[in-house]
Amino acid sequence: GKALAVTGSASGIGAATVDYLRAHGAYVIGLDIRPSDNADEHIAIDLSSRKSIDEAVARLPEKIDGLANVAGLAPTVPAAQVIRVNLVGTMALTNALLPRLTYGSGIVNLSSIAAFHWQQSIDQIKEALDLSFGKIDAFVEKHRIDDQPGRSYFLTKEALLAWCIRQRRTWVDRGIRMNCVSPAAVSTPLLDAFAGVMGERTKKDSDIVERSGAPADIAPVIAFLLSGASAWIRGANIPADGGVAAHYLAQEN
Ligand code: NAD
Repeated sequence: GKALAVTGSASGIGAATVDYLRAHGAYVIGLDIRPSDNADEHIAIDLSSRKSIDEAVARLPEKIDGLANVAGLAPTVPAAQVIRVNLVGTMALTNALLPRLTYGSGIVNLSSIAAFHWQQSIDQIKEALDLSFGKIDAFVEKHRIDDQPGRSYFLTKEALLAWCIRQRRTWVDRGIRMNCVSPAAVSTPLLDAFAGVMGERTKKDSDIVERSGAPADIAPVIAFLLSGASAWIRGANIPADGGVAAHYLAQEN
């Protein structure tokens, strides 16, 4: 089977993805700051730390057949930490693993319905994509990211979509593809935390659908984008949201 790495493997969508991939014959390496025993192998990683990322990468196998970037934080912590984990650490891990990815590998990032409206300025998104760990605090201060609740989260999820679009053909000759999956409300600890700070927004999205999503609704979509069945899908975003994105499109047109 394939060797696949999944971040955020200890909870929610990441844990469901580990279960799904293993049930379909993959050897799955879970990467999370919290311990978990659901994967074939667990490697501790703190995605907010360059040092921890490098240590985790050193422990990963020489060859990997795909990477799912599922770990993420709700905006209940300072903006700098949201940006570290959801964006800069996720990009740093991906870049560090790129040399090890085999031909045909998929890279999948978890964006969100939160990115649907593209509310941040394109210049800020571009600046965010160029951030290194050392520049995050100054970025947050300069753009006053912490002044609006939830903005750090929206920014990171939009930036992941933009990163995906930017990388649409970067690794064509290596057969590597990057895509995004964008869920709406999925019942996990993150959703509870998110609803605590963004209650109205969460309720608005949830009222559109007949039920909230379950992690098991998202895992097969991630697995598809890691598999050869999605070989001609590049730089794309697949909503897995019970129709919430379509609802907003219908309203806007
Ligand atoms: P979750 O809270 O259940 O799981 C997130 C995981 O990330 C946890 O296991 C946590 O330990 C890990 N993590 C947190 N900080 C970390 C760090 N510094 N280093 C390494 N790992 C760390 O959340 P979830 O709902 O399963 O979310 C998974 C992804 O899906 C996130 O990127 C989230 O933004 C995205 N998403 C979730 C929803 C939703 O409604 N749940 C909607 C859209 C997008």
